Amino acid sequence: MNSPSLAGLLDSVQTSLLVIKIGSSLIVGKEGAARKNWMDVLAGEVADQRRTGQRIVIVSSGAIALGAARLNLPHGGRANLADAQAAAAVGQIALAGLWSDALARHGLTAAQLLLTLDDLEDRRRYLNASATLQRLLDAGAVPVVNENDSVATGEIRFGDNDRLAARIAQAAGAGGVLLMSDVDGLYTGHPHDEGAELVPVVTAVNGAIHAMAGGADVAGVGTGGMAAKVAAAEIAGRAGITLAIVNGTYAGPLGRLVMSKRGTLFMPSGKDRGRKAWLGGRKADRGALVADAGCIAALRSGASLLAAGIVEVEGDFSRGDLVTIRAEDAGLIGRGLVEYSADDCRRIMGMPLAQHEAALGHMPRSTVMHRDSLVLL
Ligand code: GLU
Repeated sequence: MNSPSLAGLLDSVQTSLLVIKIGSSLIVGKEGAARKNWMDVLAGEVADQRRTGQRIVIVSSGAIALGAARLNLPHGGRANLADAQAAAAVGQIALAGLWSDALARHGLTAAQLLLTLDDLEDRRRYLNASATLQRLLDAGAVPVVNENDSVATGEIRFGDNDRLAARIAQAAGAGGVLLMSDVDGLYTGHPHDEGAELVPVVTAVNGAIHAMAGGADVAGVGTGGMAAKVAAAEIAGRAGITLAIVNGTYAGPLGRLVMSKRGTLFMPSGKDRGRKAWLGGRKADRGALVADAGCIAALRSGASLLAAGIVEVEGDFSRGDLVTIRAEDAGLIGRGLVEYSADDCRRIMGMPLAQHEAALGHMPRSTVMHRDSLVLL
C-alpha cells in the first residue's frame, strides 16, 4: 500500500471513495453569477474519476452567495443570520439545479443531501445519513451535500463546510477528502506575507499548525478560513482519512492537481473507526470532567473513566451527553458520552464505587464514561 499523497487521493485503488469539498468562491464569481463553465469541467473530471472506479461525494458551498446575489442582499447575504438563511433558501435550489445539470451533461445523476449539525451529532441520525450515502453510491449517483443553512441556527450550526466535509467523509466511509478553495494550502504565515511558505505535508496537527492557521481567513465569499480547514483535517485524520487543501480556481482542478502536486496534505493520524470516529469528530461538548493524573494514566492504558479519579465537574449536562475530559492543568485529554448527569457526577466525584449507592440513592453504574464511549485526543 502506497503512503498517502496528493495524487493518491485521485487514484481509485488507493482512495476508493473521495469527498470533494468545493468552496463558495469556486461556484460563484465576484459579481454573484454561477461559474457554470468551471462546474461543467469539474463534472467532466468527476465522470472521468467514476470511470476509473472511484466513488465521489461532493460537498458544495455557494448557496448563500448565490442567493444573496438573487435577492440583492448586502455583504454577500452574511450581514445577519436571517439574511443568510433567506439567501441559502434561494441559493440552494439554484445550486442543486446547477449541479444536477452539470453532472447530467456527463452522464451522472446528482443526489441532494441537506444536513444540519444535529443530524450528524445524533448517532441514530448519523447512521441513517450514512446508510443513505451508501445506497446512493451503490446506485451510481453522485451525492451533493450542503449544510441545511435555512433551518440550522446559532450553536447548532457547522457554519463551515470544511468540517461538514470531514464528517461526511466519516459517514460515507471515505479514504480521502479534498478541500478545494481559492488558496494553495496552509502557509507558515499569511499567504500575502513575504517569507510565508506553503506547507506541503502535515504529519501531526499540533499547536504550531494551529498557530499557522489562526486568523488566516483569506477565502473571499466563503466562511471556511484556514482554522476550519485544520479542524477538518483533525477530524478526518483521527478517523484514518487523508485530507488535502488544494487550490481549485483553475479550469479542470483535478487534472491540474495531478500535474502540479501542489497543496497541503494532512497525513491520517489515527485509526478510529465507527462509533469512536464519530465521537472524535463531534462538535458540541456540554461540559467537562477534570481528571487527576492517576485517572489519566489509566485512561491512556485503555481503562474507563471512574468517578474516583474526577476532581471537578464543569457545566450542566445530562446522561448521554458529550462531555470533554480535561487534566488539572487544563490540557484536553479526550471526550465521550457520560453515564451520569452533571449533578450526579458532582455527588460521586472522588469516591470509590462502594460509596456511590449511598451518595446517589440508587444502584450505581460501574463507570462515569465507558472505554467504548470515549476517545482520547
Ligand atoms: N453552507 C454555506 C453555503 O452553501 C457555505 C459554508 C461555507 O462557506 O463553508 O453557502
